[in-house]
Amino acid sequence: MSEPDIDQQIAIDAAWNGLYVDGEWVAPDDRDTIDVRNPTTRESIAEVPAASSEDVDRAFAAATRAQGEWADTTPDERAAVVREVANLIDEYEAEIRDLLAVETGATKPRQDIEHGGTVTFVHDAASFAFRASGGHNQSKIPGKENIIQREPVGVVGVISPWNVPMKLSIRAVAPAIALGNSVVLKPAEESSISGGLLLAKLFEKAGLPDGVLNVVTGTGPEAGDRVASHPDGDVIAFTGSTGAGRLVGHNAIDHFAFPALELGGNNPHVVLADADLDEAVAAGTFGSFWNQGQVCISINRHLVHESLYDEYAERFAERASELKVGDPLDDEVVIGPIINESQRDEMLDYIDRTVEQGATLETGGEGDGLFVEPTVLTNVTNDMAAACNEHFGPVAPIIPFSDDDEAVELANDTEYGLAASVHSTDRGRARDVADRIDAGMVHVNDQTVNVEPHVPFGGVKDSGMGRYNGKWIIDEFTQTKWTSIQREPREYPF
Ligand code: NAD
Repeated sequence: MSEPDIDQQIAIDAAWNGLYVDGEWVAPDDRDTIDVRNPTTRESIAEVPAASSEDVDRAFAAATRAQGEWADTTPDERAAVVREVANLIDEYEAEIRDLLAVETGATKPRQDIEHGGTVTFVHDAASFAFRASGGHNQSKIPGKENIIQREPVGVVGVISPWNVPMKLSIRAVAPAIALGNSVVLKPAEESSISGGLLLAKLFEKAGLPDGVLNVVTGTGPEAGDRVASHPDGDVIAFTGSTGAGRLVGHNAIDHFAFPALELGGNNPHVVLADADLDEAVAAGTFGSFWNQGQVCISINRHLVHESLYDEYAERFAERASELKVGDPLDDEVVIGPIINESQRDEMLDYIDRTVEQGATLETGGEGDGLFVEPTVLTNVTNDMAAACNEHFGPVAPIIPFSDDDEAVELANDTEYGLAASVHSTDRGRARDVADRIDAGMVHVNDQTVNVEPHVPFGGVKDSGMGRYNGKWIIDEFTQTKWTSIQREPREYPF
């Protein structure tokens, strides 16, 4: 076996061609490799090893060996390591911004949120070491004490997507580690560095003991499938598409690992008849186009009351056409490249089919390389291609409705239930509509892209199972143990 060409640098041009297993960097040797490419230039950034099932098995063996000792450390020790990771993310801000831009096309508005949000999030996760608490319950047996404890689950398998990769990997990895678990992380192929190997370097620099975090870059069908199926996984924390999530969930349940599934969305932005148009348009613009619309919680459909429809569409299309498209390293750019050819082609196909189905293209619709113009479609109905599919791009179909009941019906007419937003100058009315929308997260007089470390994040219907963040993720990444102590002799019936 050869030595991997890995250095300690955190930079886009550092060496990234190794797996991270049991505190060692493993060279690609004769493994297949994944060519990680810059979506702006399509130049190769790195060739990372594609982990085999045997590599994943080695990662689980290391994680299983390391977990007991890690769980026996004090909460202070665990919190200190996680806090140090947050400090390092701050220290390497410029390098990390570069990495996110070059590997995944993150424009400045995404870099701001992904970098800043991750620091806050990891600091919050450090506190989890102290927050997994149990209690004492009364007993019906005289002299008995009931003690309820929360313990780490053991090994957490994490499978993450490419769209906000550092944040979406670390939102599972940092809480799992703070709570005394060990982790096997499989990042998305496209973001093998910022969703995976970067985390390995950060936790290694922060002093995490060997084996507590293992990172196996690789493909979904091989490495990802093995992570979900491995008998030593206790929780499988998956973020990605509903299709892959369904397979992962089945595999996890098969060996009684708990599936924590954060999946797709088809999120409505509902503009009621009495909405403030300026606010609704401003919110709609951010919610549709942040990160080129490549967000599970971005606005997929704009549902607008018929009395405001024309004016909303006109103002919104004007705002969309003004957004600067281009290289994400330019701070003025809002719309960077789409992650790869197949995502771009799928999205352009949704646009073409929606126009063929009778919609009007108000602005955009064209692609140049991996860049897709911000696209606004009017005269759309809920069954058209860009509306009934999760388009995952800078595409905004606008659908009219005639009253609040119809708005709710349209909003709920999807298999997904992740996020929604409702605009009205009457907050009570907006709240009534919000209460009737089947979604895990609804925002009044805002847009759908909201995440806060201490509030629950997750969806209903085909958008997933379970909740991230705060006490909700503490519950998912720990298990409950009941210990009873009989303090005086007990009377038995025989
Ligand atoms: P994807 O499902 O293609 O891939 C996600 C991850 O799963 C990748 O690491 C991939 O390699 C892996 N994978 C693929 N097939 C697998 C299999 N059979 N077994 C195990 N692992 C497998 O999704 P994507 O294209 O990377 O991301 C976009 C999707 O993710 C969208 O649907 C989006 O809505 C969803 N998403 C959801 C959230 C959320 O929090 N709900 C956040 C971001 C993205």
